Amino acid sequence: MAREIATFDGLVLMRKDYRERDMLVKLLTDTYGKHMFFIRGARKRGFRLAAAILPFTSGRYTGSISEEGLSFINSAQEYRQFQSISQDIQLNAYATYILNLIDVAFPDGQAIPKWYQQAQWALKLIDDGFDPEIITNINEIQLLTVFGVAPYWESCVVCQRTDLPFDYSEKYGGLLCQQHWQLDPYRFHASQRAIYFLRQFSIVDLPKLHSIQLKPATKKELRRIIDQIYRDTVGVSLKSKKFIDHMADWDQILKPD
Ligand SMILES: [Zn+2]
Repeated sequence: MAREIATFDGLVLMRKDYRERDMLVKLLTDTYGKHMFFIRGARKRGFRLAAAILPFTSGRYTGSISEEGLSFINSAQEYRQFQSISQDIQLNAYATYILNLIDVAFPDGQAIPKWYQQAQWALKLIDDGFDPEIITNINEIQLLTVFGVAPYWESCVVCQRTDLPFDYSEKYGGLLCQQHWQLDPYRFHASQRAIYFLRQFSIVDLPKLHSIQLKPATKKELRRIIDQIYRDTVGVSLKSKKFIDHMADWDQILKPD
C-alpha cells in the first residue's frame, strides 16, 4: 500500500497543534490501527471538519492513507463526541489515560481491531456513567499482556490449585496459593477481594459488563496493586496517569472535615 483512498471508522486518540493553522490528529481506526493525519487549516475559525476531530469523537472518515508520507482526512460522516466525558474533568482524565495507554501499547499502523472495539466500549461505558476507575482498571489489566507482562491469573503458578487463598507474586508472574506463599517474601499481601476482582478484570468482556460495585477500600487496594505492577514490570509512566493521581489528592484537600 503506497497511498489509498479509504473509508474507515475511527476514534480521536490525540491532537497536536502543528504550525500556525494546522493540526496533527491521531485516530485509532478499525482497519489501519493508530494513524496520524495531517489536517490542513484545522485551527482556522469555521474549519469544516472541526467537530469531527474534537477530542473523544468517533465517526466514519474518508481520507487518503499513506504508509510513509502524510495522510489526510477529506470528509467525515456520522461522527459524535462522547458528551459527558468531554464536559467532566474526572471522566475526561480517565478516558484520556485509557487512550494514552492504548497509544503507547501498540506501534502505529498495526491493525488492532479488538482494541479499537475495546476503546469504543470503554469510552461508551464511562460516558454512560459507569465507574471510570473500574473501566480504567480493566483496561490496565487487559493491556498487561500487550506490554509483554502476562500475569497468570487462572490458578497457582506452581501447583495449579484454585481452592486456597491466593496472593500475587511479581517474581512468579502470577498467583501463588497459600501453600506456596513462602516462595516469595515480596508477595503483595493482597486481600482475597482484590485478587477476585483482578482475576475477573483479566477476562471480563466490556460489552457484557452490567454493574460492578466496589467498596472504596477495595478500589484503593486495586489502584495500589496495579500501580505497583506497572511501576515494577511495565515501566510506563504517563502524564495523564499522574494527573489522575493528583486528582485524588485534590479530593482530599477539598473534602470538608
Ligand atoms: Zn500452589
